[in-house]
Amino acid sequence: METGEGKDTAQGFHNPVAGFGVTFKAMFKKRLTEQYPEEKKVTAPRFHGRHQLNRHPDGLEKCVGCELCAWACPADAIYVEGADNTEEERYSPGERYGRVYQINYARCILCGLCIEACPTRALTMTNEFELADSSRANLIYTKEQLLAGLDEGMVDSPHVIYPGMDEQDYYRGLVTEAAPGTEPQVAVSKGEKPTSEEVDV
Ligand code: SF4
Ligand code: SF4
Repeated sequence: METGEGKDTAQGFHNPVAGFGVTFKAMFKKRLTEQYPEEKKVTAPRFHGRHQLNRHPDGLEKCVGCELCAWACPADAIYVEGADNTEEERYSPGERYGRVYQINYARCILCGLCIEACPTRALTMTNEFELADSSRANLIYTKEQLLAGLDEGMVDSPHVIYPGMDEQDYYRGLVTEAAPGTEPQVAVSKGEKPTSEEVDV
């Protein structure tokens, strides 16, 4: 029969060995460590990453400056100022466009409520997740940073609406590229702050 002292000695030997047993077992398990940033993880296709402001197939912008995305945002991370298009300076096919558009990634929680609220699918989210920065100012993305690049057949906004088409035709998919000879117009008000008369008090 084992005495109390003998039991303690056996226990004292067993405990550290048992601890190494756990280590030994873990050595043969699949490693979970990710070698980021050397190896970037591929996200799920519908991962919520950085936003993008989309264009119509001719390069005009889909955003109509309605601010619904900003109202839907629970973190108050979006700032939009809409403005009227003119024939000399047209950014979107309809009446209004988003003149100023900013997303503050110091606030954004990437929930996606804003893209659900957008009536024109102007705002979507990409899979890009590398948004960290040490400067608060750099975390405020401007319209120029968020606007999608130009695909083939697009001409940068502002430019005239496709001849013979109206805004509805764009949403019906009847415009598939910029009309031949389309030239960019002079961007006078792009991204400018409104004058004091334009700001509601
Ligand atoms: S993803 Fe969510 S938190 Fe970020 S801007 Fe959109 S609504 Fe706001
Ligand atoms: S992104 Fe969409 S919801 Fe936001 S202002 Fe533009 S059109 Fe409206």
